[in-house]
Amino acid sequence: MQIELIAITPEPEQVIELAARTCYQSQDLQERDSAGVLIGKLLTMGHETPLEHAYATFRISGCSRAMSHQLVRHRLMAVCQKSQRYVTEENFEYVTPLTLAAEDRAEFAADMATIGRMYGKWKARGLRNEDARFVLPNACATELVISANFREFRHIIALRCSRHAQWEIRSACTQMLKQLHAHAPAVFGDLLESAGPS
Ligand SMILES: Cc1cc2nc3c(=O)[nH]c(=O)nc-3n(C[C@H](O)[C@H](O)[C@H](O)COP(=O)(O)OP(=O)(O)OC[C@H]3O[C@@H](n4cnc5c(N)ncnc54)[C@H](O)[C@@H]3O)c2cc1C
Repeated sequence: MQIELIAITPEPEQVIELAARTCYQSQDLQERDSAGVLIGKLLTMGHETPLEHAYATFRISGCSRAMSHQLVRHRLMAVCQKSQRYVTEENFEYVTPLTLAAEDRAEFAADMATIGRMYGKWKARGLRNEDARFVLPNACATELVISANFREFRHIIALRCSRHAQWEIRSACTQMLKQLHAHAPAVFGDLLESAGPS
């Protein structure tokens, strides 16, 4: 799975600070290093609306549709995903569960090859992509571009980096968290500290 940060609000913490200080009319207190302290106070107070003024966009590729189905449940996130109607899945790639024992990998691969033949059979019998895909597995690899504001990213990361989350979405969200943290340490630092191993 590849997680690529393709766009982010420039100087996001300064934008968040400016928005928050507009509430309190304290723009005169905005200094070179004041954003981190203020953002810490906002998070403690639960005043999270200023975080909505910063956005990020990621391209996620080589993940399973089992993972993407969980991710797209987050309704405040914008999503574009590779279509199984407009793009054929002949020779589809797939994700092998990390939890699969090494001795079972060949059998899993054989199952995927069987499904590939089933898909090809129904295509050959005249089914369109949109209906031939009914036989495809959740393991099928997909690609998405997602965008959300920082408040929503904090919400997603808190839920999906938890030890209760499934391994693949936890891995995706941990990678996004690290990249977001590099640009906005005050916004995402507490989440990075509490996130378990991906
Ligand atoms: C560990 C785990 C297990 C899960 N298991 C299942 C499962 O078995 N079955 C299943 O169906 N789902 C499951 N889910 C998905 C879960 O139910 C949510 O759909 C998903 O986490 C999206 O969360 P959300 O609605 O808070 O987020 P978002 O859609 O990202 O929304 C963010 C926040 O905005 C607010 N919001 C958004 N839309 C509305 C609205 N229409 N009305 C009011 N407030 C709104 C809420 O405060 C919400 O928390 C699971 C999630 C996790 C993390």
